[in-house]
Amino acid sequence: MVISKLHIFSDFDGTITDTDSLVFLTRELGGGPELLAQVGEQLRANKMTLREGIATEMATIRTSFSEAEALLRASIKVDPDFNVFVQWCKMQKIPLTVLSAGFHEIIEMFIPATEFPSLEILASRIEPRETGWQCNFRDDSDYGNDKARAIEAARAAGFHTIFIGDGLSDRASAEVADEVFAKRYLAEYCRARGISAREFQTFADILTHFQISNLKFQIVNP
Ligand SMILES: [Mg+2]
Repeated sequence: MVISKLHIFSDFDGTITDTDSLVFLTRELGGGPELLAQVGEQLRANKMTLREGIATEMATIRTSFSEAEALLRASIKVDPDFNVFVQWCKMQKIPLTVLSAGFHEIIEMFIPATEFPSLEILASRIEPRETGWQCNFRDDSDYGNDKARAIEAARAAGFHTIFIGDGLSDRASAEVADEVFAKRYLAEYCRARGISAREFQTFADILTHFQISNLKFQIVNP
């Protein structure tokens, strides 16, 4: 069987990294665990959009970007197999897009364009201010960056789409993608909603899956 035109999309925070950078920054430098709990409760009750939740959390951070950067670099790790996965996609000519509800400036610290030139990154931007960090969201959706829209556009262009994610901002994407790899909250959500998803822990698991299925499916990308 030949699968033509494959496009892989991946969440960043908690999926490519071990820790969600926005949760980490809010907990360590912003409103702390109390604010995270409050925002989490409002999100679950649908009293706040993800966009409002992220803006509320970021507004409580008044630290300089360089101080935040040092702490992020010391505390957050990229999945050690992500690099191999990126190289494999490149070899197979499969486009790989990072879709994030977070920020370019933070993603760049961990997977810089100089090291990962083949990666497309779609994310919002952050403006660190002394009066509270200001979000410049990528679009006008309730998510700040409508990940599902990007996946739908690829499907409309004839691509078979695969989405990899872990959290709240990934729910709509899991509903529209042709295939899903899920961990943590997204895996729970998929199970509860009856969305078919493969559970994974690291990018090595995903790579193994593709290498095994590659024996049965031939992927032909332009
Ligand atoms: Mg995430």
